[in-house]
Amino acid sequence: SLSDRLAETLKNLRGKGKLSPADVDGTVREIRRALLDADVALDVVKSFTAAVRERALGDEVNKALNPAQQVVQIVNEELVQILGGQQRRLEFAKKPPTVIMLAGLQGAGKTTLAGKLAKWLKKEGHTPVLVASDLQRPNAVTQLQVVGEQAGVPVFAPEPGNGVGDPVKVAKNGVKFAADKLYDTVIVDTAGRLGVDADLMKQAANIRKAVDPDEVLFVIDAMIGQDAVATAKAFQEGVDFTGVVLTKLDGDARGGAALSVAQMTGRPIMFASTGEGLDDFEPFHPDRMASRILDLGDILTLIEQAQGAFDEEEALKIAEKFATDSFTLDDFLKQMQQLRNMGSIKGMLGMLPGAKGMREQLDNFDEKEIVRTEAIIQSMTKAERANSKLLNGSRRLRIARGSGMTVTDVNQLVNRFEQAAKMMKTVAKGASLRYRVWVRS
Ligand code: GDP
Ligand code: MG
Repeated sequence: SLSDRLAETLKNLRGKGKLSPADVDGTVREIRRALLDADVALDVVKSFTAAVRERALGDEVNKALNPAQQVVQIVNEELVQILGGQQRRLEFAKKPPTVIMLAGLQGAGKTTLAGKLAKWLKKEGHTPVLVASDLQRPNAVTQLQVVGEQAGVPVFAPEPGNGVGDPVKVAKNGVKFAADKLYDTVIVDTAGRLGVDADLMKQAANIRKAVDPDEVLFVIDAMIGQDAVATAKAFQEGVDFTGVVLTKLDGDARGGAALSVAQMTGRPIMFASTGEGLDDFEPFHPDRMASRILDLGDILTLIEQAQGAFDEEEALKIAEKFATDSFTLDDFLKQMQQLRNMGSIKGMLGMLPGAKGMREQLDNFDEKEIVRTEAIIQSMTKAERANSKLLNGSRRLRIARGSGMTVTDVNQLVNRFEQAAKMMKTVAKGASLRYRVWVRS
């Protein structure tokens, strides 16, 4: 996979005090191969590797304490650039309704996206309405209606039995309907074909002309690999779009499409779709995507932040403990106390790649928790702190009494500690340059 290849490559740099031009060239060559294998477009690979090479040979690396880590940082930063740099938000019309038109091949995920976007917009305080301008397939309208119902938003569609409507007219009427009824956003679903098709392009272009959308989102299946660039360019010429939505990032995509499309079209990736459910959807953050590809960038940020709060030596010691399973309750406490200096614990834990599934728990993580944790751990004996396995029922009862907490509190703490130890172990392994892939291959 892309990540494994990059990891392997960058691993070879580890421990080098200084990088020779040969080191850099070797690394860049490997990165180039890894990207090509992952279906990244050649032009993108070229500009990417050229940028990495130039920077890796430059002063920032020469002067760095840890050149290898610096190169990793550069690769990460360049990935972010390729993915569009800054996150781009939706543009809303000064005078509502804001019109968002979806375009893309059949099966790309447009109709599903219409529902996801509507649900998300609703959560953001908007009042979206869906417009069924895909009249190509018999059940397209029904599918949008189902999606609309799931999202809890109205769907504007031609009357059934009213002949096969004109998608351009439906789009126009849909926008008018939204304006009349004071809906503030209109999402226009359109038809797609299995391949790029002149009629389809013309239809989409006509819809665009008719409703003058504020955003045209080109929806593309991240799994289509090398075809991504050609398809995106065809749509750019035929319809043009203001942003890209990558779908099916939950699948076995090789990641190349994501890296190529933004760069080759000059249009930002704005949203990512990661499953069939309406909530499997998020605004696209180039930096997060890059770190998911590397499964590392966030760790670097984390390390940077941590360095601000406590010294590197301590951080390394703890990382070592995570990795070797000798992380104790004492360490847990010490770490929590240090984390407190870092401001938002939640923000920090949210950055750990392994922590995604723990968000809910993290949301409940607060200052009081630390105070309670301190009280409980300080009521433990040295031996107990060193080995949580000793904590049987009677010991937990004694600790609860000693700290003024309940046994449930103690149990919760021990559970949390054990989970953290497990999670951190995974993270620490990742940090030692064994990246996992988000866009798996
Ligand atoms: P459209 O033809 O562009 O409107 O595509 P649809 O919205 O009908 O989606 C085609 C298929 O892809 C459906 O079975 C969806 O459930 C599925 N799908 C859409 N988005 C995603 C996604 O992000 N991940 C996965 N796994 N499936 C998706
Ligand atoms: Mg559809």
